Amino acid sequence: LHGHALAPGIGSAAAVLLKGRAPLPRRFAAGRKDAKREAELFREARRQVEAELRSRAERSGDAVAAGILKAQLAILRDPTFGEQVSNRIVKGKLPAGAAIEKTAAGFAALMQRSPSAYLRERAADLRDIAFMLGEKLFGKQAPRRASLLPRGKSVVVADVLSPSELLACDRRRLRGLVLGQVGPTSHTAILARTLGIPAVSLPNAALASVPDGAELIVDGRRGLALVRPGAPLKRYYRLEEEHQRRLGQRRSRIAAQPATTRDGVRLEVAANIAGPAEAGAAWKNGAEGIGLFRSEFLFLDREAPPSEEEQYQAYSQAARSAGKRRIIFRTLDVGGDKPLPYLGLPREENPFLGNRAVRFYDEHADLIRCQLRALLRATGRSGHLKIMVPMVAAVGEVRLVRRLLQAAAGELRERNVPSARHVELGIMIETPAAALVVDSLAREVEFFSVGSNDLLQYTMAVDRGHPALAGLYDPLQPAFLRLLTQAAAQARKARRWLGICGEMAGNTELLPLLVGIGFDELSMVPAAIPAVKERLAHLDKGECRSLLRRALRCGEAAEVAALLGEFNGQGTAPAASGPELVRLDSPCRTPAEAIKELCGMLELAGRISDSPALEEAVWKREETFATDLGFGFALPHGKSPAVRAATVTFLRPRRPIRWSAASTSPVKGVLLIAVPEKGGEEHLRLIAGLSRRLMHEEFRADLLSARSTGAVLAALRACLEEK
Ligand code: PEP
Ligand code: MG
Repeated sequence: LHGHALAPGIGSAAAVLLKGRAPLPRRFAAGRKDAKREAELFREARRQVEAELRSRAERSGDAVAAGILKAQLAILRDPTFGEQVSNRIVKGKLPAGAAIEKTAAGFAALMQRSPSAYLRERAADLRDIAFMLGEKLFGKQAPRRASLLPRGKSVVVADVLSPSELLACDRRRLRGLVLGQVGPTSHTAILARTLGIPAVSLPNAALASVPDGAELIVDGRRGLALVRPGAPLKRYYRLEEEHQRRLGQRRSRIAAQPATTRDGVRLEVAANIAGPAEAGAAWKNGAEGIGLFRSEFLFLDREAPPSEEEQYQAYSQAARSAGKRRIIFRTLDVGGDKPLPYLGLPREENPFLGNRAVRFYDEHADLIRCQLRALLRATGRSGHLKIMVPMVAAVGEVRLVRRLLQAAAGELRERNVPSARHVELGIMIETPAAALVVDSLAREVEFFSVGSNDLLQYTMAVDRGHPALAGLYDPLQPAFLRLLTQAAAQARKARRWLGICGEMAGNTELLPLLVGIGFDELSMVPAAIPAVKERLAHLDKGECRSLLRRALRCGEAAEVAALLGEFNGQGTAPAASGPELVRLDSPCRTPAEAIKELCGMLELAGRISDSPALEEAVWKREETFATDLGFGFALPHGKSPAVRAATVTFLRPRRPIRWSAASTSPVKGVLLIAVPEKGGEEHLRLIAGLSRRLMHEEFRADLLSARSTGAVLAALRACLEEK
């Protein structure tokens, strides 16, 4: 059954169908007319659910789960929600249960009409909240569906599954999720990814066709659910599981290495986090520090700012987890698209150009000094603290923060509280104004980090989330590249440390340009770190500089993209460049297994980024015409954007394979050719060259009787170098 991937991984077990939730008991919906009492019951239920969500969020050791519970808490506390329920009870004379259901349904319908996928998917959270309130009202009479899970391992099949239901499932038994119309940004999907539970979503008809109890395989990478798989599919997925295990090992190995270019230039690769709970993921992925601690997440979704003590706890927890590694704490970055209702900032016509971040620090100096005191206290044993200010556009704003910092330090001295011995103040370069006066700003601060998400939106004058203008919101726009390069040159001239912490820092395709510009640090989402370290090891600083020089002369983003595409496509010679690309004794029995194994070898060797994508490309060709050439050889091939550099791989099955129904001779050797999407006629040249050589018995014998991978590689290289 074909659907959409929600969370990667392979899981298999018996299907357990969860039917729709039991409706809230009708007798309450029909009964009771005492409005005062009903309103009281609602308030009590809300208080209980609030307390429960808060305590579950606090107890949850997982940052994502805690974040989701807090987001639900925010919906529950929304004053409009409470007012509407109360109005329906008092004025509409509805019992509490019915008033909650109606209000939640109204909110959910509103959200479902929103153009934003994110908001549409919050509708499920509302239904979840209504259900929890109902449970409190009716004293737990509605059974939790998760408790219906049988004892054994299971794949849960359900139209909707709320985040709280997923959290209630026993993770040791849950092997996968097959859901209905659930999007990848829904909280359930986010949770599944964090918990490592493979998940897919299916269209309604496909979902309804899954029989209860049937054996299921969930392929969360390709977005497939396989019902009652036969022996060949099971074998295929065992190979897939093994491949993913090895990919995971490879990832950890790369994560542990320092980040260095091919010519030995060291770069710091760091992580962006939103709270101390995410620090663990940063270290696990190989972060050398935290390049951006988005402190504002401590301030969102609540009714009052966190106290100095609460902030101190959060910052020092992060500092403890970092040990000797550095953390750059960004001061409060709210306003604009991240409003804080309790600050009472007036509504603005154009919030991104309004009173955001450092621009309201003067007006709310108490709040900022409180944050600075918490930071100054939280430096851990090193006594060093790095603070970074967002959205700076003018020198005066930095001077204001210095004054606030001095005041905060003075306040701590008065209280006799120890504080940081050494403080470095930095700013984000995220307005063109700051980028243009880096030299002046360098006299005020110790370091810079480019916030490219905002810098790009302000340079191109395009909202960073605008769905129709993504073509302009493109980091390859020459205007943006020039501004970035110019700002970096000024920072270098002023001998200031320079990082970059916008999304583009974690994009391996853009990496050559960033290396060319010359950043000291790249900071990104933790999961992107291993791939960036790996790509970095293949880049040469001199080559990247010359690429950048050419890119800066381009008139259009498309020209830069073409240059970059060509640069990224150049690998080493298009050959089996290492022994990991040759397998001499493969247990594979079918063309599907052989192609899978060869694509897996390419992925493990870092030659491709996505083996299912290449497999699909290979099969597209294979279905038009089978690629066995006769003479005991098959030559499958595919072109895909997942391929980094043209490569040939070779595999010898233990037992000959019958390649297709029309095959005349069984296949004893398989050569797979992978070519980048923009590889031009490269694949034709490679296929022609190899087919020609395979006509020669001597070459075939070299490959089929070679005793070592080295001998195969030598034969292949000789063939590929031949013009
Ligand atoms: C940026 O603007 O690039 C940045 C890192 O800050 P944020 O995404 O939090 O605005
Ligand atoms: Mg920003």
